[in-house]
Amino acid sequence: MKVPQDYFKAGKIASKVCKETAKGVAIGDKVLDICTKVEGMIKGLGGAPAFPCNVCINSIAAHYTAEIDDESVIQDGDVVKIDVGVHVKGFIADTAFTISFNPNYNELVMATKDVLNEAISMVRGGIKVGDIGHVIENGASKRGFRPISNLSGHLLKQYCIHGGVSIPNVWVANTPSLKAYEVYAVEPFLTTSDGAGIVRDDRREVIYALIGRRKIGDKKLDFLAEEIWNRFKTLPFTARWLTDIVEKDETKKMLKKLVKGKVLRAYPVLLEASGRYVAQFEKTVVPTESGVIVTTDY
Ligand code: MN
Ligand code: MN
Repeated sequence: MKVPQDYFKAGKIASKVCKETAKGVAIGDKVLDICTKVEGMIKGLGGAPAFPCNVCINSIAAHYTAEIDDESVIQDGDVVKIDVGVHVKGFIADTAFTISFNPNYNELVMATKDVLNEAISMVRGGIKVGDIGHVIENGASKRGFRPISNLSGHLLKQYCIHGGVSIPNVWVANTPSLKAYEVYAVEPFLTTSDGAGIVRDDRREVIYALIGRRKIGDKKLDFLAEEIWNRFKTLPFTARWLTDIVEKDETKKMLKKLVKGKVLRAYPVLLEASGRYVAQFEKTVVPTESGVIVTTDY
């Protein structure tokens, strides 16, 4: 069985970008600058972003990226998650890390990193995904933290971030097994023990993806949808990536209409349900018969 080499190319690019970014991020940095820098670096290294660079702060767990005129800035006391997706010809590397600017959460961040490593160390073909969830859940609780139970890792496929198999962050019965030489993202999200341990949808939506290539009979909207297909296929994107073809003030309205017309799906920003802080680490892995290859090894 062969894994397409482009998975490893994407992994190398993502690793380099994360390493550089982790060194550079500081209090006072604009979230918008972090996102554009990450996305620019990916392109400079010969890849393409598989989704907009996610920068999720404190109780925002996932699905936030800078908006067009985003003014938000990393503050002293923040816990910052940076989630980077790279693809080469649609073959994806998905990886994330957390930086703490708040000593109260250093332990949470360390624990999440350790739990990811524990989970990865048990990855191989034939392991039940629920057993990985079990290790994550136990690893979290023995360190005094709680996993987010409604976020999970996932199978990756070409041009497809969620390939139909989830890797839960808690124990689940009767789950499928990892297949050797498929590609998966493992991503524990942990919160404090007094957290709800689940995320809920925020009202904000800043990330979208094409559902299908359906025309809705509005010339401008159909043109935009076709351009989205040409640029991103079914991978997630954000309004920032369309400023060269849509008036800045119109983008959101048009995207909303395409969501209403079921041409696009929107990914709401996800918040820890009780407002507690969340840490996340993620790597992309390939199970073999006897072990694991990490494509985003940094
Ligand atoms: Mn990710
Ligand atoms: Mn992921």
